[in-house]
Amino acid sequence: MSFDNRSIFEEEHKVFRDNFRRFCEEEVKPYQEKWIEQGIVDREIWEKAGENGFLAPKVDEEYGGLGLADFRYNQIMIEELAYVGESGFALSLHNDVIAPYISAYATDEQKQRWLPGICSGEIILAIAMTEPDTGSDLQAIKSRLEDKGDHYILNGSKTYISNGIISDLVIVAAKAPEGVTLVCVPRGAEGFNRGRNLKKMGMKSQDTAELFFENVVVPKTDVLGVPGQGFIYLMQKLAEERLVCAVGAIASSVYAFNETLKYVKERTAFGKPIGKFQNTRFRMAEMKTEITIGQVFIDNLVTKLNDGKLTPDEASMAKWWCTDLLNRVVDSGVQFHGGAGYMMEYPIARAYVDARITPIFAGTNEIMKEIIGRSLGL
Ligand SMILES: Cc1cc2nc3c(=O)[nH]c(=O)nc-3n(C[C@H](O)[C@H](O)[C@H](O)COP(=O)(O)OP(=O)(O)OC[C@H]3O[C@@H](n4cnc5c(N)ncnc54)[C@H](O)[C@@H]3O)c2cc1C
Repeated sequence: MSFDNRSIFEEEHKVFRDNFRRFCEEEVKPYQEKWIEQGIVDREIWEKAGENGFLAPKVDEEYGGLGLADFRYNQIMIEELAYVGESGFALSLHNDVIAPYISAYATDEQKQRWLPGICSGEIILAIAMTEPDTGSDLQAIKSRLEDKGDHYILNGSKTYISNGIISDLVIVAAKAPEGVTLVCVPRGAEGFNRGRNLKKMGMKSQDTAELFFENVVVPKTDVLGVPGQGFIYLMQKLAEERLVCAVGAIASSVYAFNETLKYVKERTAFGKPIGKFQNTRFRMAEMKTEITIGQVFIDNLVTKLNDGKLTPDEASMAKWWCTDLLNRVVDSGVQFHGGAGYMMEYPIARAYVDARITPIFAGTNEIMKEIIGRSLGL
């Protein structure tokens, strides 16, 4: 079932989608089982993505990017990875969540140091906000930056960090005397250690890890933006991150829906395809309707983002509603697969466990409703 009849794309986007779809077929799909088994994707996929211009395409050409400020290209990549059920290769985290911090807040010298590697795949990114004692309440982080003149000393620990093992540069949120500050810590910095690759319910090929910082020397030249402004930077960028999450959730809903549709047409019971039972047919009709409505909303917000008009409350609405929808879609998908839905060899089972995190990360759905509620003056 196609959800492709969408008005926001132009000819150049279709060409880009075809290219990226081919990349997914040739460079992602054949390796998915291997990546799942090893609990992490291969570095080569990052390098291949870089060679093809799929890493941080928004970055200016002078720093190695393509200068493609149009988010629709990023949207296409998020969608195509979801359509092949890929949840470990964190391209979007790198492209759409973290690289924009460097583009927005880094000095020219920092941009020259980091952006070319970010675009080539030599520098894989992570962002570390969450700590063992605090996630939603970001202001309560305990990681500390002690001011030593020309450098800070960083102490603290972070957890649940995506790309935690594979990353080469980590943006760390910590408290300096000026307040929450973002600093960039490279792989190999003395005192920076990675913990376990955490065992998760889903997203098995995504490396999610604990990070430990013990007396790490952070030169002031590795501070991102102005010390003490970190919380404001995070708030400024989180709206886009939430839309990214919603774009992925709708695309994953399309994938789970299509897997289910295929199954209910093939599987028979009581002499007919299970899709012919009214309960199945009506639920499939409901899901098709809701996904279509969600897609229209998402495409509308992508246009707003491109126009610089995306608001935090709209992004929050998209994030909670689309991730909630995804979880309802995968739940029905598993149900319609019967016992097969509980078997990991069926894509719907993997989609089910992968989906469960989406109402939790990038700000929990309860926090999203807090943001929307506050925008109502409540
Ligand atoms: C797979 C995975 C990848 C992740 N990747 C990253 C990453 O790359 N970088 C990073 O920094 N973090 C990452 N996280 C962390 C994630 O963002 C946090 O888990 C999330 O923000 C929730 O924080 P918490 O786990 O501390 O839950 P808590 O904040 O302890 O929340 C627990 C529950 O209380 C509710 N709650 C909290 N405050 C309120 C409130 N004010 N009103 C109503 N309910 C409330 C929450 O909604 C939730 O249901 C990742 C997590 C996972 C599991």
